[in-house]
Amino acid sequence: MADLTFQQLARANRQRCENGFRRAVEDWSPTDWATALAAEVGEACNLIQKLRRGEEVDLDAIADELADGGDERGPALPAAGAGPGAAVRRKFKRDSRRVGSDVEL
Ligand SMILES: [Mg+2]
Repeated sequence: MADLTFQQLARANRQRCENGFRRAVEDWSPTDWATALAAEVGEACNLIQKLRRGEEVDLDAIADELADGGDERGPALPAAGAGPGAAVRRKFKRDSRRVGSDVEL
C-alpha cells in the first residue's frame, strides 16, 4: 500500500464530513477542530499512561487514537489558514535550525 499523503487525508476527511457527518469542514471553527484534535491526543495519552503503569493496553488502540488525531489535524490546520503539509514542513525546518540540523522535508 502506498504512503498516505496529507492531500489524500484532507480530501477524504472533507468527503467524509459531507457524506458521513452531513456537514462541511467549514461548519466547524478552528476551535472546534483544535479541541477535537486535543481530545484524540488525550485519549492516546491516557492509554500510554496506562501502559506506563504496567496495565495491559492494546497497542493498536494507541495507534488508532493517534490516527484519530491525524484525522482532526487535517481540517484544523486549513481552518487556521495553513495546509497541513506546508505547516509540518515549515515547523520541521524551524526545529531543525534550532537544533543545528540541516535536515528538511
Ligand atoms: Mg478517538
